[in-house]
Amino acid sequence: MPLNINVGDIIELKKKHPCGGNSFEVKRTGMDFRIKCITCGTEVWLKRHDLEKRVKKIKAKEGKET
Ligand SMILES: [Zn+2]
Repeated sequence: MPLNINVGDIIELKKKHPCGGNSFEVKRTGMDFRIKCITCGTEVWLKRHDLEKRVKKIKAKEGKET
């Protein structure tokens, strides 16, 4: 099942970043995703396939009402 992830969403990954954080902000979507670690600010590229395997929780964009 494809995940509905949009730019600006906050996602939680199963595996923590080396800095200890597990919340990431989605900066770019497409074939590859660019996500930014909220804790340390590092940006990483992930293939859609890898992201779908690793994501634990998707939180709606802050302030977004759906
Ligand atoms: Zn980090």
